[in-house]
Amino acid sequence: MGTSVPLDSPPAINASPEPDVVIVGAGSAGIAAALRLVAEGLTVAVLEARDRIGGRAVTRAFKGYPVDLGAHWLHAGPINPLVKLGFVRGEPLRRAPTEGHFYVRGRPGSRAQAAALDRAFAMADRAMTQAARTAEDRPAAKALPPGMGPQGRRVCAIHGLVSGRPLDQVSLHDFPSMEYADNLFIAGGLGAYVARLGKGLPVTFRAAVRSIDWSGQGVRVESTAGTLRAKAAIVTAPMAVLQAGGIRFAPALPNAVQQAIHGFTQGIYEHVILHWPDAPFRGPDRLATLTGTRRSPPGLLTRIDDTPFHFFELDQPHAAQFDRRDPYAPARFAREVLAEHFGHRALRRLSVVHATGWRNDPWSRASWAVIPPGRAAIRDSLKMPVGERIWFAGEALSRAQWGTAGGAWEEGERAAAQLCAALRRRETAPDHGTIRTAP
Ligand SMILES: Cc1cc2nc3c(=O)[nH]c(=O)nc-3n(C[C@H](O)[C@H](O)[C@H](O)COP(=O)(O)OP(=O)(O)OC[C@H]3O[C@@H](n4cnc5c(N)ncnc54)[C@H](O)[C@@H]3O)c2cc1C
Repeated sequence: MGTSVPLDSPPAINASPEPDVVIVGAGSAGIAAALRLVAEGLTVAVLEARDRIGGRAVTRAFKGYPVDLGAHWLHAGPINPLVKLGFVRGEPLRRAPTEGHFYVRGRPGSRAQAAALDRAFAMADRAMTQAARTAEDRPAAKALPPGMGPQGRRVCAIHGLVSGRPLDQVSLHDFPSMEYADNLFIAGGLGAYVARLGKGLPVTFRAAVRSIDWSGQGVRVESTAGTLRAKAAIVTAPMAVLQAGGIRFAPALPNAVQQAIHGFTQGIYEHVILHWPDAPFRGPDRLATLTGTRRSPPGLLTRIDDTPFHFFELDQPHAAQFDRRDPYAPARFAREVLAEHFGHRALRRLSVVHATGWRNDPWSRASWAVIPPGRAAIRDSLKMPVGERIWFAGEALSRAQWGTAGGAWEEGERAAAQLCAALRRRETAPDHGTIRTAP
């Protein structure tokens, strides 16, 4: 098992008793918001339910190697703020390879077979991008060209994996907005990087926020670590946590905001972390497609940062199958599927060191938030502040980088910038428009 203490976690610093802004959650969005507000000269208190920074980005050590339990890829390099910041800070970024492995029944497939899969991906992406331009939203799966055969099923499965839901449950209008090209990785893990970025911020750990009262001039935030008053709050708790009523708002949130929160579905994506020193895959950080037998890994990232570790990824339908079974079911499944391809002898030195369970974690309840067909507009409703005192932020709100740490960061900065502007307006025009409630 990995060490229970996250790598490079900053020490807890007591927050100021009456900060300008309370930030709920010390994940990527919360840290980005806090840094921006502090840079603008405001005082902040970050309240975090867990005992660490990073939220769904966390790195743990297994056998001395840092391995990400949540976010790992820095997607969409050219627009990802964590990449830009990483280059400025001189962080150890590396480009993700574009070539992958293609195996048929445990043996390397031919170039032609791999090229056929690439063509199927290109055809599906073109069809979905074009179809998304039409006015009416529908399930993303409906836009796939008919008759794509086994390659089409593979494309559908991979897109379903990275979307967090099968494509028939994902909005076509939302799907192509997701940018995946030009990916990077960071040595030491993405979770450790986010924790580094939060170093020195006033984060109070084990402070689960239970209610936010916005009936007065500012906000009154009650948590398991006590009560704080502030001018405003930024809430970055995951949508699934808000849906479960994890934070009570008084007065209740406006209808449009509540509907938006409840409009998302839970995106599920889990890592089964393999330690497999003699795996057949060569070269670091490559995705592997295994075909030709009854079952295939929903996703496989091999030799992470050139280590003996690999991610066997579970998509939503597979993860759901394991929910009512014993905790070793994901590990058994990974072994069985790999044995179908490579034989039992090849797995003699394979051990499963961890299987994540973000969907059952009370502070995440999902891997990310997904927009179902017909609901593409809900994201925008959440970008409106509530009463000019409560802003929502987090991965769910990002249009081009939804479901990612980069998207969460972007949204944390966006909410902080809007909040600063609103406070400035309030200060320069004290008699006007202090309270504006979202419809
Ligand atoms: C297995 C997995 C793999 C992933 N892979 C990638 C990837 O490769 N690349 C990528 O970019 N993204 C990936 N993601 C998604 C990425 O992790 C998230 O999109 C991102 O980390 C979300 O950041 P956030 O700040 O919006 O939310 P979070 O990181 O969840 O932060 C919210 C914080 O709020 C806290 N909180 C919740 N409720 C309360 C409360 N009531 N009071 C106080 N605090 C509270 C939580 O503990 C948490 O720390 C992956 C996710 C998973 C689960």
